[in-house]
Amino acid sequence: MAFSQSHVMAARRHQHSRLIIEVDEYSSNPTQAFTFYNINQGRFQPPHVQMVDPVPHDAPKPPGYTRFVCVSDTHSRTDPIQMPYGDVLIHAGDFTELGLPSEVKKFNEWLGSLPYEYKIVIAGNHELTFDQEFMADLIKQDFYYFPSVSKLKPENYENVQSLLTNCIYLQDSEVTVRGFRIYGSPWQPWFYGWGFNLPRGQALLEKWNLIPEGVDILITHGPPLGFLDWVPKKMQRVGCVELLNTVQRRVQPRLHVFGHIHEGYGVMADGTTTYVNASVCTVNYQPVNPPIVIDLPTPRNS
Ligand code: 5GP
Ligand code: MN
Ligand code: MN
Repeated sequence: MAFSQSHVMAARRHQHSRLIIEVDEYSSNPTQAFTFYNINQGRFQPPHVQMVDPVPHDAPKPPGYTRFVCVSDTHSRTDPIQMPYGDVLIHAGDFTELGLPSEVKKFNEWLGSLPYEYKIVIAGNHELTFDQEFMADLIKQDFYYFPSVSKLKPENYENVQSLLTNCIYLQDSEVTVRGFRIYGSPWQPWFYGWGFNLPRGQALLEKWNLIPEGVDILITHGPPLGFLDWVPKKMQRVGCVELLNTVQRRVQPRLHVFGHIHEGYGVMADGTTTYVNASVCTVNYQPVNPPIVIDLPTPRNS
């Protein structure tokens, strides 16, 4: 594979504008990209990219810090989860199995029982009813892959977001809490036509281009390429290379929380960003991975 000019120029500083990220030539083949970057000691494998031990739940919070409790992929199985002390809860999507209103209500009740000052939630590919375009297609094509969802009447899910009364729901949007700018987005690379699926490459990059620079905490449902995105049964890294470029080259958040690839549960860091795959459920949908705690210094102006 030649080291092409287009790749070298994948991110470049335009004369008068901000850093522009362009589609990566490896977007359609992340496995090949991972091999390439490994061999060349590329963007995500320099020596300072490391696995990080999660903070123990009983560790004292340093003064002046905000404690984030990160979860994702709880898939309507919240009952056994032991929730630790913290200030802000982050849920990175897949809180249901199918996005049924009954599941959303149950999840919202669980949120209501938790003591955090702020609770921030995004959708994942399993929150089918949150993806209005997906639902419109489902009805139009009358297809039967999701029979229990097809049975729902539009009036029962059109406003499904409004069932989430106990959290701040982000969908390509931003909120500032305790002085942290937090941005959330549900999209992920196409995989069997679930909610918020988009083709790799330009389509996903257009969503990532909506993320403003200066965001402190990024929440996406899926991982960036090379970080906690390994699917052992496929021997593949399935993270999004456009998301990687966006995170490392343009946005450079302090913290990037995601899930989706249940097998990738854990924490990594590259010296600028801490990456958290907060999947509570295993690949067999057992909710056994503990929530991940991250302490960040609270911005002075908050
Ligand atoms: P979920 O259905 O909860 O979104 O994802 C569950 C599991 O499906 C993941 O842990 C992973 O094993 C698999 N999976 C999800 N997305 C992808 C993908 O893009 N590629 C591959 N190979 N597997 C995926
Ligand atoms: Mn999941
Ligand atoms: Mn998912």
